[in-house]
Amino acid sequence: MRLVLVGPPGAGKGTQAQFLAAHYSIPHIATGDIFRSNLKAGTPLGLQAKSFMDRGELVPDSVTNEMVRDRLLQDDLANGFLLDGFPRNVMQAEVLRANLAEKGTPLTAVLELSIDNDEIISRLSSRRTCKDCGLPTVEKDKCPSCGGDVYQREDDKEEVIARRLEVYQEQTAPIISFYRNEGLLITVSASGNVEEITMRAISALNRVS
Ligand code: AMP
Repeated sequence: MRLVLVGPPGAGKGTQAQFLAAHYSIPHIATGDIFRSNLKAGTPLGLQAKSFMDRGELVPDSVTNEMVRDRLLQDDLANGFLLDGFPRNVMQAEVLRANLAEKGTPLTAVLELSIDNDEIISRLSSRRTCKDCGLPTVEKDKCPSCGGDVYQREDDKEEVIARRLEVYQEQTAPIISFYRNEGLLITVSASGNVEEITMRAISALNRVS
């Protein structure tokens, strides 16, 4: 299963990605997580990404595409992968298609999590993230999964959320039609509880894989 997960910030991509990656036994590749762990480790890549991330802007394609290409060359992808947060514009989608075509491993499906704007804003402003495992949670103290401390991401603060939503509409939403035209798009509603959404996603994916 070679899967891309797409949806606005706050649609629950990170949460669903954890469950879907476990269900299909495939690595979860989240570009935002890779940038954040580079930032934490103070690498040149992290420093390059920081100013864009803090403002809710996309990190330049040259940096992001190269990082993803390197990750896709690693040898843990025999069963496939789940890409979360990439691609985020049509140029990245085209580069991904070319990279995968070169390897003869095209995408199986693109899963869109769809949700209303109002729900997004309330979810994001109450979201916390685990410092240790990166899991998103509504808990304000400790991570329910690993017990690590939680924090509010700089870009989950109200001023930045608005910009991230604009960036999604302007730059990322066009990839939905790109993938619809490729015949790869599956859309499921991201409203409701986490388990329900996972079941919805798995039954939709089982119909195409
Ligand atoms: P996320 O954790 O997916 O919400 O990503 C957090 C931030 O990382 C985004 O707001 C961007 O600044 C950056 N980022 C993550 N993925 C990408 C991507 N595919 N292209 C450009 N920037 C990205």
